Amino acid sequence: MKKTFWQALAILLLGVCAFVLSVRVGGAEFVEGNRLPRQVNPIGQKIAQVISNPLQATPAQAQTNDPHGVLNAACAVRPGKPRRPTRKELGPVRVQLGLDRFRRMDASFKDPNVPKEIIALAHPTNFGWRYKFDANGRPANQAPIVVLHETVSSAQSTINFFQTPHPNDADQVSYHVLIDLDGAVIYMVPPDKRAFGAGNSQFNGISVKTNATLSSSVNNFAYHISLVTPRDGRNNKSRHSGYTNAQYDSLAWVLSKTGIPATHITAHKLVDRSGSRSDPRSFDGPKLLNLLKKYPRSADIALSCR
Ligand SMILES: [Zn+2]
Repeated sequence: MKKTFWQALAILLLGVCAFVLSVRVGGAEFVEGNRLPRQVNPIGQKIAQVISNPLQATPAQAQTNDPHGVLNAACAVRPGKPRRPTRKELGPVRVQLGLDRFRRMDASFKDPNVPKEIIALAHPTNFGWRYKFDANGRPANQAPIVVLHETVSSAQSTINFFQTPHPNDADQVSYHVLIDLDGAVIYMVPPDKRAFGAGNSQFNGISVKTNATLSSSVNNFAYHISLVTPRDGRNNKSRHSGYTNAQYDSLAWVLSKTGIPATHITAHKLVDRSGSRSDPRSFDGPKLLNLLKKYPRSADIALSCR
């Protein structure tokens, strides 16, 4: 009888401990592999947390914790056989990247136009290497292009989706950069990496096959920039109220940093071959072209891998 009482007490205590532990773990959250305390959990804080934590490890140390090669700006030669990511590759990223991984910083101290910049790295299952040769061994050295998109959702939900590991090739998606309604530039994929912004697509008749099981696309030579859609456009109607002046300004600033000429700036709806894409809707092309004259072109955002 006495023994049963002590057994029951022990089980009760274990249960209480397990409950306390689960509440504590539930209050933390992963962002780029770091557990954040509960008080920085609300929407918006997540982005701020990432930029307030610049690269802490030296590049050499960070490389050892980088199974995805996120820090490495090298090109891969040609695609291998499609395969599912390993458990390690599906895990959180344990490195934090500095702004200099997304653009050259040298001249920015005298640039009066630098917008608010934020780093929110996509999970590496949602982007890949840029290749020197396509899946059939043909050279893939096309001139770079910029493809413009819109998110159709908020910046935060787009970030959440891109930071979720996706083991299946068909679910993987990302842009290099988001431009929020207030003009904030949110860097998600390093420019020398291949973001998965377009499926079946071509530019001037050119596309590159990097995955034997998926359609060829422009991704191997594209820099994908997406404008956050205004509230009244978070639906599938054909138009909305358009983008803010701050978004056009930041877009022109980012474009000037890529050095890509206006003839090679295009839209998802124009490169799409699936017939299912119409973004960016309600986009003012002449307004952008006018703003492009305002900023000197540079190659501070370098798309080519080394
Ligand atoms: Zn798009």
